[in-house]
Amino acid sequence: MQVQFQSTLAARVDLTGRGLHSGTPTRISLLPAAPNTGIVFKLHGKKIAVGPEAVRDTDFATVIGDTNGSKCSTVEHLMAALSGLGVDNAIVEVEGDEIPAFDGSSAFFVEAIDAVGLESQEAARRYIKILKPIKVENGRMMGEFLPYDAGFRVEIEIDFDHVAIGRQRFAGMITPEVFREELSRARTFGFMRDVAKLWGAGYALGASLENTVCLADDRIVNPEGLRYADEFVRHKTLDAVGDLAMAGLPILGRYRSRCGGHKLNAAVVAALMADRSAWTIVEAETVRARRRGHAGIGAQVAPAYRADLS
Ligand SMILES: [Zn+2]
Repeated sequence: MQVQFQSTLAARVDLTGRGLHSGTPTRISLLPAAPNTGIVFKLHGKKIAVGPEAVRDTDFATVIGDTNGSKCSTVEHLMAALSGLGVDNAIVEVEGDEIPAFDGSSAFFVEAIDAVGLESQEAARRYIKILKPIKVENGRMMGEFLPYDAGFRVEIEIDFDHVAIGRQRFAGMITPEVFREELSRARTFGFMRDVAKLWGAGYALGASLENTVCLADDRIVNPEGLRYADEFVRHKTLDAVGDLAMAGLPILGRYRSRCGGHKLNAAVVAALMADRSAWTIVEAETVRARRRGHAGIGAQVAPAYRADLS
């Protein structure tokens, strides 16, 4: 069902863990926020609103920050959970400089958000509607937005020369149900041969088999194996949901990528934002009778949108 109203968390959520890259303890709180707040990070008292201009770095993780040097790393799995579950408005207070890794997926964030539930707000949900194709290509990598009015659809393809991965594809509409069931538990993965290089560069210092699917040259190292047969492409899809959420509003359109990652996803969002004729902001039609009448939870309500003239 297409949710037509904005939503926020019904109550505060506190989470503690360790950063994947820093390896140090970190603590975050997710707080309810008023309609049209969006997702706003609070780092040491400074506010950073989620939007393409807040993205500072996309090497191995998505880092947000402001022009004064306040930074928070590895926001993508939290952003994926907020976006995937349809949270429009929330404050994210961060103590530390990285979002906790937990098990390397979005599962802990989803469980924590589901535990308090969402509250529907008296404001129409706003979307970035894709009006024309926007494509970024770089060697084998390709990412593009295409117009698509039925919701947010993704088609993600990866092709790794590794016996456990190979070519994998995930395609589908992103709804809270799909995100929760099909994507949220897919974990980060990494190659053992890259570990020394990553550590040398100060990355993945907190990585372990508890939060990463580790690949040796010929096998998966984790004794428990995979959570989904195609967990790798599902994680890349989860990452794309989080990276695209950095646009600041949910996407009404289709996103395709091949051999992509954070850098490509961020580049496609930047290319979209740079072409003002490629997108517009629309509001969901909020028909009270639909919400209060027979078309309740579980019913199929055809999405309807109108141009935002404000
Ligand atoms: Zn990831």
